[in-house]
Amino acid sequence: MHRVYFARPIIADKEREYMARALSNPVLTDGAFVTAFQQAFTDMVGGGLALATNSCMSALQLACMSLFRKGDEVIVPALSHVATAHCVELSGAEPVFVDIDHKTGNMDYHAVERRITARTKGIIIVHYLGRPSDPSAFKAIARKRGIHLIEDCALALGASEEGTHVGLFGDVGCFSFYPCKHITTGEGGMLLTRDTQLMAQLKKRRSFGQKERYGDVPYLGFNGRMSELQAALGLAQLERLPYFLKSRQHNYLMLKTALSNIPRVNSDESSFYGMSVFLPKGMDRDEFRMDLKRVYIEASAYYPKPLPYLSYYKKKYGYMEGQFPEAEFVSSRTVCLPVGPHLKKKHMRYLAQTIQEKLCGSHLSAALAS
Ligand SMILES: *Cc1c(COP(=O)(O)O)cnc(C)c1O
Repeated sequence: MHRVYFARPIIADKEREYMARALSNPVLTDGAFVTAFQQAFTDMVGGGLALATNSCMSALQLACMSLFRKGDEVIVPALSHVATAHCVELSGAEPVFVDIDHKTGNMDYHAVERRITARTKGIIIVHYLGRPSDPSAFKAIARKRGIHLIEDCALALGASEEGTHVGLFGDVGCFSFYPCKHITTGEGGMLLTRDTQLMAQLKKRRSFGQKERYGDVPYLGFNGRMSELQAALGLAQLERLPYFLKSRQHNYLMLKTALSNIPRVNSDESSFYGMSVFLPKGMDRDEFRMDLKRVYIEASAYYPKPLPYLSYYKKKYGYMEGQFPEAEFVSSRTVCLPVGPHLKKKHMRYLAQTIQEKLCGSHLSAALAS
């Protein structure tokens, strides 16, 4: 028996060393470490301009505040973290949900194109579990229609399509450094854009909308900055990203082989955030998760409920169950298995074996029964 956590940050000497250095500097926010982290980030993704924030939600919100306003419609996948919809709502625009495809967890771009109206001002794509959501196709649609594209890359650090890192296709890409993501700063995020003018605006909005400290305020904004301590942590983590990614890939491939008979959302070409496997019909997701917990395995749900079915959106826009069958299918019928670098061979073996025992028999009997 081994303990299989869904995620555990890996903090080593380098992190402690950088953080100690940050602590001894007189500037504790938006200083040399933040600048170095932003620079290292653009070097890693291979282009664009980066702006560190205190969360991915802040990054998304700053992007939406800059690009949308009241009366606009913004297309959002029905299955994502609630931050992907809330950022639109907070800008005054209306999130318009489009169902995902259960094979990939991503939106189909043809389906999205059909939903574009005269009021549509943008699309937010989410790279589900780190699988690029056809960013070049979405970029082409956005160009053709003269609307904006935002990439929610919270689970996709390290993912690319034909050599271009995700986050560089849209007007803006937003990343998360929350503890369970690919790298962590405790809390934190990053904005990525190739647009110098937009970057200047994002930067002001991130500091209360101010032109410079104590200067005039041309925009609405808030305090979305990252501290030096967070950036020091992030810089050390980023240096180890190649190892983290390799380890995730290794663990994912091991699971893929061991569980080849179990249907899953296909994240084979991704930055390997996790593996969502389908449960047999009639098996309750949360009961199954509790069942795993009893044998010390943490499995997660990506995501626990389709966004339009959350009370806030249901109440405000009148969405009903049944309207987003694919999002419902993935949400209610999959558990996400961990593949993070904190898991060694013995953990992965134990995980695969346990899932095989618990699911295989059931899939088989479900198949025989139907
Ligand atoms: C985790 C996550 C977020 C939120 O990130 P924070 O840094 O916690 O704000 C946003 N979008 C997606 C798709 C996520 O998975």
